[in-house]
Amino acid sequence: MSTLLVWLRNDLRLGDNPALAHAVEDADTVIPLFIWAPDEEGAWAPGGALRWWLHHSLTRLQERFADEGSRLILRTGASTDVLDAIIEETGADGIYWNQRHVPALDERDAELIQHFDDKGLSVTRFPGRLLHDPEAIETTTGGPYHVYTPFWRKFNKLLNQTRAATPPLPAPEFEGTAPDTWPASDDVSALQLLPEARDGVDWADGLRATWTPGEDAAHQRLEMFLAEKVHAYDTARDRPDQDGTSRLSPYLHHGELSPRQVWHATHEALNGDIHEDAESFLQEIVWREFSYHLLHHYPETDTQPLKDKFADFAWVEDDEALERWQQGQTGYPIVDAGMRQLYETGWMHNRVRMIVGSFLTKDLRIHWLEGARWFWDTLVDGDLASNTMGWQWAAGSGADAQPFFRIFNPVSQSERHDPNGDYIRRFVPEIADLPTKYLHAPWDAPSGALKAAGITLGETYPMPMVDHSDAREQALDAYEQIK
Ligand SMILES: Cc1cc2nc3c(=O)[nH]c(=O)nc-3n(C[C@H](O)[C@H](O)[C@H](O)COP(=O)(O)OP(=O)(O)OC[C@H]3O[C@@H](n4cnc5c(N)ncnc54)[C@H](O)[C@@H]3O)c2cc1C
Repeated sequence: MSTLLVWLRNDLRLGDNPALAHAVEDADTVIPLFIWAPDEEGAWAPGGALRWWLHHSLTRLQERFADEGSRLILRTGASTDVLDAIIEETGADGIYWNQRHVPALDERDAELIQHFDDKGLSVTRFPGRLLHDPEAIETTTGGPYHVYTPFWRKFNKLLNQTRAATPPLPAPEFEGTAPDTWPASDDVSALQLLPEARDGVDWADGLRATWTPGEDAAHQRLEMFLAEKVHAYDTARDRPDQDGTSRLSPYLHHGELSPRQVWHATHEALNGDIHEDAESFLQEIVWREFSYHLLHHYPETDTQPLKDKFADFAWVEDDEALERWQQGQTGYPIVDAGMRQLYETGWMHNRVRMIVGSFLTKDLRIHWLEGARWFWDTLVDGDLASNTMGWQWAAGSGADAQPFFRIFNPVSQSERHDPNGDYIRRFVPEIADLPTKYLHAPWDAPSGALKAAGITLGETYPMPMVDHSDAREQALDAYEQIK
């Protein structure tokens, strides 16, 4: 009689879960386990929004396991101690898990493997988080890619060797895999993942109204996106006023959905006819792969610039300015709409992430890490690889980054990507009554228009906290010093 533990981490699903599927095939008894050990994730322990998601994701997953006649055991504590204890309790012969591809956690995993090896216990790791192993795609000279387009071309060339080439694994049948006695499990509430309401305000209200975590909801969203939205994706992906992107990022981050499931569902929904819009969507899935490729090759870039010269950049320390940016009180409506969307819903449209990133790092010259940390605490999709790449891109210090001297103009970006002002009106309601032509730059509106819309600049809505043209010149001067 063999018993295997399956240690679930960022792979909170039953379908296309290699560790789980193989354990059910290989062992008589299978014990699925999740360990809450935030200290082991260091500076990037899950932030508030990620914890909120995790609470609900674990709840759903426990229900799913129960429906299938199995259980998900929850425990809190140092991973080694918890695993040792459960092995002792159950007499397990081995552990299966899926790789995370986060360098610091992979190192921790390697230490654990050594620990269990010393005890004569086998650990088997499976790939499942990505379509390819981050080191598997190399340039002709054997190094990492720094530019996305050739990476995408190489990815396609090697498509038959990636996991996209094989169909997703079905959810396993758990019948007969339960132990005689299940190890004790914490209740999910004992993990204390939900934020506390402050002054009667529950920050999670907006998250609850926007999202349904869990594997079933992930598939529903994917199906809806493929049926109704993928055909217009290429234009909609640049329009924050439209619900035109997949919004699958939190499901992919928590592993409620695998990229292989997305890849195959897209091909199936379109009967293999991958039109331009669908290709553009699949390219984004591969941007995610690219971010893991970069983090693998440059593991220090979660805190250090990939381009060394940026280590000497004259970043400004200004807590008050940082707080105005965080709270969506910069006086630039598109920036404020984005920051409020983030705080209210735990998500922000990609175009606006780029705009607010440029504003923080270039108009305010505040270090990109401050932005990365705020995103980490407030995003439901906070993902170390994508967040690091996104922030280094915005700051100009990363691979395939926006060159520093290309500084987004928050007004023209707003006019182009939110032409009717619907996005701004939704998240910055205090200026909603302004005619659209003044909405993107209220400080240029005639006093009559402001009055008619009930706006007193500096009182009901802030004056712009910096003059964009001046801030741009100062940023370029600062860049000259390190060029
Ligand atoms: C400053 C900054 C920070 C970011 N932080 C994160 C983060 O923490 N987590 C995260 O998942 N994404 C991050 N992104 C990338 C991107 O904004 C989100 O993935 C995207 O907005 C998610 O929405 P969606 O699921 O509707 O995307 P879609 O447009 O529907 O794309 C489908 C999927 O492709 C992947 N994807 C799309 N764009 C990117 C991208 N630029 N980089 C990497 N993967 C991408 C995501 O998994 C996404 O779910 C960041 C971008 C920037 C500019």
